[in-house]
Amino acid sequence: MTASLKETTTGGIIRAAEISERYKSVYKLSIDLALLGRLMRILFPNSSISHPRNKLTGKQETAYANVEFQDQAVPTKFERENIILYIPPTCHIQYHDMQNWLTLSIPTEFIIDRNVLFKKVTLKLSTWHLSIRGKDIVLKEIGLDNSFYDTVECLESILKIAGKIRVCTGVTIKDVDILNVDVRRKPVILELLAQSGDENTSVTKLRHVRCEQALKWGSTTQTCRTCQKKTLEIVQRFSTNMR
Ligand SMILES: [Zn+2]
Repeated sequence: MTASLKETTTGGIIRAAEISERYKSVYKLSIDLALLGRLMRILFPNSSISHPRNKLTGKQETAYANVEFQDQAVPTKFERENIILYIPPTCHIQYHDMQNWLTLSIPTEFIIDRNVLFKKVTLKLSTWHLSIRGKDIVLKEIGLDNSFYDTVECLESILKIAGKIRVCTGVTIKDVDILNVDVRRKPVILELLAQSGDENTSVTKLRHVRCEQALKWGSTTQTCRTCQKKTLEIVQRFSTNMR
């Protein structure tokens, strides 16, 4: 669904129901329309929402203007061995022999324990997969379908989508000395986080071992719900014990 959509200036309109059908054809289940609305705002900021009346049923429907399905445009096929021509120079490519799969490592703006944090997009034969810090992100759960076609347009949308998925950076810890003592016996990971370009300023962060890695669309924090809840519980319990 999302990988097959693109913004257009030709005034195209797509009904939410059509997008939902695409999602359904891949996953056999309907996408939550509120989630779809959030996704559309983030992925296609120039699209706009409208509520035309369905001519047959007379009911109002949700539709999005200034987007179209990629396959309505002429797709540009590419060969996987030439993928380097179509990706940003900062991406690393790793070919998996035998299967014709490949993994693109896309740098994020975060430096964790002095290493750049990457998002990894793996292109299998007709699907794409995302992993962050070794955890596979279930695309279905964030409203994305995982179909992939070897076209430049599809590759560009996947890179754009992957770029917009925000990474959990955990909970900021101020009282580091106290925490350092006990952290090894807790289901948490202590990390030194810096922003790329400002590597001398780092913050100590704590993430839960079951960190979700990707944030929900439209999340207002930089912390996933698991880290927010479970890590804070541990920190609070710990500081109470210290008193
Ligand atoms: Zn997290």
